[in-house]
Amino acid sequence: MDCLFCKIIAKDIPAQVIYEDEHVIAFNDINPQAPLHFLVIPKKHISTLNDITEEDRELLGHMIMTAGKIALNQGVAEDGYRTVFNCNSHGGQTVYHIHLHVLAGKAMGWPPY
Ligand code: 5GP
Repeated sequence: MDCLFCKIIAKDIPAQVIYEDEHVIAFNDINPQAPLHFLVIPKKHISTLNDITEEDRELLGHMIMTAGKIALNQGVAEDGYRTVFNCNSHGGQTVYHIHLHVLAGKAMGWPPY
């Protein structure tokens, strides 16, 4: 297993875990780009959004629902937040295990480049 996020799931690499259940885990980003920046990842290894299949439909929905619930618990839902999936090089993906970024705590700009 040579995947950084699989190692975080296995607790071989430490992370500030803020939520975990049978299917997903959420932890603070090591290099936050906003006052609050956490990642929601599936425990199932999926390299990129290009690799999701019909059987992952519920899992992806669960990731998004989880992101929203954590945002609510962290008190940032009302002011709002940014969610991002980066895919492959043009998307800016650096870790090849899908993850949903959640950024909050300040007003985000658009476009994102
Ligand atoms: P990507 O660029 O693939 O969309 O996002 C990968 C994210 O993972 C980056 O925001 C990066 O800071 C974060 N990251 C990389 N390595 C680690 C790590 O070891 N621990 C944590 N908590 N986050 C990491």
